[in-house]
Amino acid sequence: MYREILAKLVSFESVSCTSNLPLIKYLKGLFSDVAKVDCIYFPEDENKANLLVTLGPCRDDGKGLVLASHLDVVPAGDGWDFPPFQLVERDNKFFGRGTADMKGFAALAIEVALSFKSKNLVNPLVLLFTHDEEIGAVGAKVLYDNSGFSFPKNVIVGEPTKLIPVTAHKGHLRVKITFLGKRAHSAYKHLGENAIVHASRFVTTLYDNLEAIENLCSDSDSIYYNNSVNVGMISGGEAVNIVPDRCVLDIGIRISPSEETSLVDFKGEFVDPLTVRILRILERMLEEICGDRWILEITSYVPPFYNARPGILGDVLGSSTYVNYTTDASWLSRMGLNVVVWGPGSIEVAHKANEFIEFSQISKAREKLIQVVKILCEE
Ligand SMILES: [Zn+2]
Repeated sequence: MYREILAKLVSFESVSCTSNLPLIKYLKGLFSDVAKVDCIYFPEDENKANLLVTLGPCRDDGKGLVLASHLDVVPAGDGWDFPPFQLVERDNKFFGRGTADMKGFAALAIEVALSFKSKNLVNPLVLLFTHDEEIGAVGAKVLYDNSGFSFPKNVIVGEPTKLIPVTAHKGHLRVKITFLGKRAHSAYKHLGENAIVHASRFVTTLYDNLEAIENLCSDSDSIYYNNSVNVGMISGGEAVNIVPDRCVLDIGIRISPSEETSLVDFKGEFVDPLTVRILRILERMLEEICGDRWILEITSYVPPFYNARPGILGDVLGSSTYVNYTTDASWLSRMGLNVVVWGPGSIEVAHKANEFIEFSQISKAREKLIQVVKILCEE
C-alpha cells in the first residue's frame, strides 16, 4: 500500500508555485469516508491550499498528534537517470522527485493514519499537508496568521533528517537593496551618479565587516551558532555608455536560532529581535556608504526555530540535533505547538537529480510513527 501511495504522490508534478489542488483532491478522496477534511486556501491564490485531515475525535485541549508534510517539491532539473515524476524501485530504494523531501514521509503518514481505525482513537491524529514550503514556508505562514483551527500540541514535521530529531534550525531573511544613482551619458559622467559603484562599495564593506553580522548573538543565546550572509544576485545598468541609475542586490541571511519567540515590527514586517539588529547594521552601513540613495525591502522571511523542551516527542524519538535549512517548523512552533522535525531519508539527496529514499529508512520510520500514534492518540 505504501508503494502505491508514494507512486501516486510522486506522479503529481507539484512544483512550488503551481497549483496543488489536483493533489489535494486525491488526498481528500483517500480520507473522505474515514476522516474530517478541511481545506485552507491561500488568500493570495486560490489555486493553492493547506489540507488538514483529522482522524478520531475533534478536541481543542491540545491532546493528540499532528504529522506535517509539505506537498510541494523543487523543480526536477537535469541529470536524471529516470523520469523524475515516476516512482522507480532499484537497489532497495525508491527514486523520484520528492521521495526524500518529503513525499516519502507524507505517504507514510497516510499509510499509518489509515491503519488506525478512527473509532479506536481517543485523541485526534491530524495529517497536515502544506503548500509552498520550498519557497519560504508560505503555507505554514498562512496557518500562523489565521487558521482558526485548534491543533493538537505535539507536531512532527517529517523532513528527511535520517530519523534524527531536529529541535533547532536557522531562519532565513531575504532582503533586496536598490541602490539609486543618476542616469547620464558616459562621456559626461560627472553629471551622473553610478548606482553600480554604490552597490559594489557596499558589498566590499559588508564582506570586510562580515563578523559584525555573522557573530552577532541573540539575547537568549543558549543555542548560539553563527548567522551567515550570502549576496546572491546583482543586477544593474543598461549599456556601457550610460551611467547606471539603478543597481539591485538580493541578499540572503541565515539567522541563528534562540529561545526568544517574540516577533517585532520592522517597517511593517514582523521579525525576530536578532533579525532587527542585523537589519539595523545593514542600514547603518548603507547610510555611511551612500547616504539616503538606497531602498531596503524584506522580500521573504522565515523565523529561526528552537524547541528547548520537546517533551514526550523527545522521549520517544531520542536525542536531538540542529540543522541549517528552514522548515515549516519555524511558523508551526510559533503557534505555541511542540514541534520536532524528524523523518526518513536524507537532505543530502534532496533538491538533486536521482533523489531517493531507502526502504530501510521507511520501515524504521513506520515502526516509530506507529509507536508515537499509539502513545499520543490511543491512550
Ligand atoms: Zn522539505
